[in-house]
Amino acid sequence: MNQLIRAVAFAADKHRKQRRKDADASPYINHPIALAQVLANEGDIDDEHVLIAAILHDTVEDTDTSHDELVRCFGAQVARIVAEVTDDKSLPKAERKRLQIEHAAHISHGAKLVKLADKICNLRDILAMPPSNWSDERKREYFDWAKRVVDELRGAHAGLEAAFDETYRKGVPSGHAAPQVSASFR
Ligand code: NDP
Ligand code: ZN
Repeated sequence: MNQLIRAVAFAADKHRKQRRKDADASPYINHPIALAQVLANEGDIDDEHVLIAAILHDTVEDTDTSHDELVRCFGAQVARIVAEVTDDKSLPKAERKRLQIEHAAHISHGAKLVKLADKICNLRDILAMPPSNWSDERKREYFDWAKRVVDELRGAHAGLEAAFDETYRKGVPSGHAAPQVSASFR
């Protein structure tokens, strides 16, 4: 528990100048906390390494935090999960997206859980508080890409996969099996 609180304080400090992309520019830390909330209270996950990694999951990708710093402060197991869900920002965006699909089946179980929670939270954000300048088409593309990533890691956690599917369906008009631009995105 103490380490979890320490991770929240660490991530809050690292993300302190960052905001989410919604119209209100919500504090960035709301997002890692939302992942831990989904894992703990919707997925019943009590593995401290997984919950701490969820809190820290965007620190290496989006702040000056290094992998070694996470090893020093939170141990090798947490740092490894964070590394597994961290995109290589030196690559073009389309390549990073392709690699997420390619890698999802091969990461550790803990990393799959964090990735699943990340996709659930981002789809929920797109429905409830989307990036302010995104078109319906862009939201649709994101939903479809997130589903392709999640489809690769199925079997990791049935309950969280069902939560993802339920959120995904909210972006798809009823009666359509295939995703389309949805009125609910507007
Ligand atoms: P970004 O990767 O730039 O943005 C999505 C990420 O923003 C999420 O994964 C999430 O990441 C973070 N985020 C911050 N705030 C929010 C929020 N309120 N709701 C949801 N996510 C939020 O964009 P894309 O994923 O779209 O990647 C770019 C791709 O988009 C390009 O490959 C290009 O093909 C395509 N594109 C499409 C356009 C179109 O109009 N169709 C226009 C431009 C690009 P995290 O969890 O890390 O915080
Ligand atoms: Zn994230």
